[in-house]
Amino acid sequence: MDLNLSPEEVRFRDELRAWLLANVPPDWSAWREKPIEESFPYLRAWQRKLQEGRWAAVSWPKEYGGRGATLMQLAIFWEEMARVEAPPMANALGLGLIGPTIIAHGTEEQRKRFIPKILSAEEIWCQGFSEPNAGSDLASLQTEARLDGGHYVVNGQKVWTSYGWVGDWCELVVRTDANVPKHKGLTVLLVDMKSPGVEVRPLRQMTGETEFNEMFFHDVRVPVENVLGKVNDGWNVAVSTLMHERGAYGARLHPLFKRNINRLIELSRKFQKNGHTAAQDPLTRQKLAQCYAEIEIMRLNQLRAFSRISATGAPGPEGSIQKIFWSELNQRLQQIAQEIFGAYGQLLGGDSHAVDKGIWSYGYLRTRGNTIEAGTSEVQRSIIGHFVLGLPKSY
Ligand SMILES: Cc1cc2nc3c(=O)[nH]c(=O)nc-3n(C[C@H](O)[C@H](O)[C@H](O)COP(=O)(O)OP(=O)(O)OC[C@H]3O[C@@H](n4cnc5c(N)ncnc54)[C@H](O)[C@@H]3O)c2cc1C
Repeated sequence: MDLNLSPEEVRFRDELRAWLLANVPPDWSAWREKPIEESFPYLRAWQRKLQEGRWAAVSWPKEYGGRGATLMQLAIFWEEMARVEAPPMANALGLGLIGPTIIAHGTEEQRKRFIPKILSAEEIWCQGFSEPNAGSDLASLQTEARLDGGHYVVNGQKVWTSYGWVGDWCELVVRTDANVPKHKGLTVLLVDMKSPGVEVRPLRQMTGETEFNEMFFHDVRVPVENVLGKVNDGWNVAVSTLMHERGAYGARLHPLFKRNINRLIELSRKFQKNGHTAAQDPLTRQKLAQCYAEIEIMRLNQLRAFSRISATGAPGPEGSIQKIFWSELNQRLQQIAQEIFGAYGQLLGGDSHAVDKGIWSYGYLRTRGNTIEAGTSEVQRSIIGHFVLGLPKSY
């Protein structure tokens, strides 16, 4: 893979830069302090604007509203977004995971029906996979769907559903056959969250947000046209969503981590430790340097993942390497921040002494979930052991 920008990539970057300069809202820093529940309409409007310029999903095919961008252009996109501190997009799961799964496995009618509204953030998507007794072992899930004429009737419970509170649609994995091995009796349904019988209960996290939710399904009727992929082939469809979740996030996160470490280095020159600045403390310096180097390794890992996608057309199990790496690195970065700030690091956004308006105290708390969401570190190591290293399956 050639890491220098080609003339085409430079043109792409310059067009994006000019667009961002003209369109990034100047008041984002004020909104970013507010709880997600309040800022969500703002993020929706921002995503709509991005899509008006055809920037919401640059790597999607042109016929589905993207730009058919190369992986290198995708990396450029996220770098430029981070460079100007652009707000995030509202429909993160729709754009990052579920849209690509619908493009890959959906019928042409499903693509036409769902893709444009994912891009414009008119319909927000959530991912109904985990259940109280099926997280790492997703294939054990028990939410069932029974065929009744032209509908599936769904009963069961999901949990930890990010965006459930604002979701218009859900990619829901259900059991359609209980009499075959567990991976073979699953189906993916596209479920309208406004259907009678869907109940969403928010769960409050230690950050104070209610980012995720419990979802209950009581005799929810889903038309058979809303099966994504084939009946009883839901495992393959769900794995394709998970591969996107693990494979492509690194490109989006790397520029943010880079920005955070640079800011931390700047702050380390101001905060005192044992009569010196933190930047003069030998251990803090080593930790900052180590973290800086690891963020560069993360970038190179991402390029390796991109090479793999270029060769095969789809993200592979190597995405698990990147998932472990970014999630544990992010926790280390936030830990160093807390060591530098001392007691100030714990102050929340509303406090006038909070560092950077509380983004570090929030970050420390939020990153604890990084090694759980999208598959725990233990599970990722198991995937790497089996699918990348070729070790036998664990018992
Ligand atoms: C912030 C956040 C957002 C989330 N968003 C969503 C979402 O939008 N949609 C959704 O469906 N889910 C979501 N999840 C749920 C997430 O996918 C699960 O929490 C995760 O898969 C782990 O499942 P679990 O919580 O049931 O833990 P368990 O699977 O019960 O695991 C408990 C512990 O046992 C370990 N363990 C389990 N099995 C093995 C094994 N075979 N080998 C070694 N160790 C093992 C795990 O690593 C973990 O430490 C989210 C989670 C978080 C934290």
